[in-house]
Amino acid sequence: MENKAIPASEGISIAKVFKFETVEIKTEKTVIKNVEEALSDLKKAMQTAVEEVIVIRDHTQKTMGVESAAIFDAHIQIIEDPEIFNEVKTTMESESYNAAYAYDIVTKKYISLFESMEDNAYMQERAADVKDVSKRVLAKLLDIDLPNPLSINSDVIVVAHDLTPSDTAQLNKQYVKGFITEIGGKTSHSAIMARMLEIPAIVGAKKIVSQVNQDDLMVLDGLTGVYFINPKPALCEEYKEKQTEFLKEKQRLKTLVNEKSITKDKHQVEIAANIGSDEDIDSVLQNGAEGVGLYRTEFLYMNSSSMPSETVQFEAYKKVLESMPNQKVIIRTLDIGGDKKLDYLEMNEEMNPFLGCRAVRLCMEEIEIFKTQLRALLKASYYGDLHIMFPMIATVDELIEAKKVLKNCEKELIEENTPIGDYKVGIMIEIPSTIFIAKHLAAHCDFFSIGTNDLIQYTFAADRMNETVAYLYQPFHPSILNMIKMVIDAAHEAGIWTGMCGEMAQEYKALPILLGLGLDEFSMSPSSILKSREAIRSMDFKKAQTLALEVLSYKDEAEVLKRLEEEENNG
Ligand code: PEP
Ligand code: MG
Repeated sequence: MENKAIPASEGISIAKVFKFETVEIKTEKTVIKNVEEALSDLKKAMQTAVEEVIVIRDHTQKTMGVESAAIFDAHIQIIEDPEIFNEVKTTMESESYNAAYAYDIVTKKYISLFESMEDNAYMQERAADVKDVSKRVLAKLLDIDLPNPLSINSDVIVVAHDLTPSDTAQLNKQYVKGFITEIGGKTSHSAIMARMLEIPAIVGAKKIVSQVNQDDLMVLDGLTGVYFINPKPALCEEYKEKQTEFLKEKQRLKTLVNEKSITKDKHQVEIAANIGSDEDIDSVLQNGAEGVGLYRTEFLYMNSSSMPSETVQFEAYKKVLESMPNQKVIIRTLDIGGDKKLDYLEMNEEMNPFLGCRAVRLCMEEIEIFKTQLRALLKASYYGDLHIMFPMIATVDELIEAKKVLKNCEKELIEENTPIGDYKVGIMIEIPSTIFIAKHLAAHCDFFSIGTNDLIQYTFAADRMNETVAYLYQPFHPSILNMIKMVIDAAHEAGIWTGMCGEMAQEYKALPILLGLGLDEFSMSPSSILKSREAIRSMDFKKAQTLALEVLSYKDEAEVLKRLEEEENNG
């Protein structure tokens, strides 16, 4: 049977299902007779848990380095901690409790003790570690399988209720051929990551987890959002052919890698890449990007088990800048909050996290975190054409305050005799308020980049993570198009350029309108660059301007889309 949900990342995969389910472990109190035997089971469970952690540690060390792997050494120490073991043993001997129950209550005691030390970030981290370890040992003791993305060692399609951005970051591209989740929309971060990793993906596939079994065969078409569970061989063949076609087309576009993004009547724009890690640079270069238009640095933080140091950050930023000589690299400061969390940073529970203490707001609260990043960026500025970008700016004051912190960091570094290169400062335009004060913001900026993912969410008051309101993600709506025009015009009047790094920049159908509105730079996942460049090279700028002006006065998205369709049919 054909099923359809939201296409999130292009490409076709045919592989077995790997169900990624979060498991809640509950223990029950029973009174046992043979404590010796129960203790020996516990020791065995602890030993197997240690062996499992060693595998994860070694893998992490290979893929993410020694620093990230260190957390797993701490996990081994907790499992082997004699104090915890003796306490469990005493509880079992004195109360005749079963091992799982005794282990659960003892570890819970430590967890709440550490958690109660609210001001101590180190202890908070230890609480998270004990929780993780306890779950692993209990799962072994109770014979429950925990999903482990690192254990994937053959081709699979990951099926999950949701994948957090850090779950997604852990997926091994060598084996994970696609993923499909129950929740999320086109602009949720796991969807964005899938596009960056070039993993075909579908989101918003309600109830998919209960519809499939582990190892079912699945066909996933990330171009249309169609998927099949245990399809007939003929259908698999059909999709294998589609897959070959898709890959051939990708190959054909490679001839455009060194070409300019220029229209037939010689209007030139730039097509840059969105990245989430310095490891994405290969794909950026292979796809002929004319710069990096958005480096989402939060993934550097999410892939780490503790706050990345100034040096770790400096090295990552420097690597990207050095890989793109003579091209601009826009590095966005930490945009955490909303759907992006850090295991090691305690954040207040918020009713509406997307409207809460997110991005630059959080950085101004956690000033030391902000300063560490800004210092790393300024140091890296020496190695390329760095553009620093602040996310989620809503007012001129916020921008001025953020720039003050930047200037203070610069002063500090100069006093320390650290070389600093030329750099530019800009902001994301992603909160509706900024559209109307764009000229005032432009006075303090070298560039703008429009973040349509958030701009659309805030304009339509529709959570970008909620598939039920996904119909309100309407990039072609005249309200959005008019906002884009206002920003571009205000920027040009102030003599600065405007790019777009939201997902709309890679909506193929939006290209003529954005071009016609005067957008200077389009930033997108590397895999979309060449197709967009080919389209722009076939366009006429004057014609695009007329079309863009015309649709601004339309009533709704449907009218705009209809007009675009007519345009396409008329060639
Ligand atoms: C956006 O909001 O459009 C954007 C590019 O930022 P993010 O998706 O990371 O919020
Ligand atoms: Mg945003």
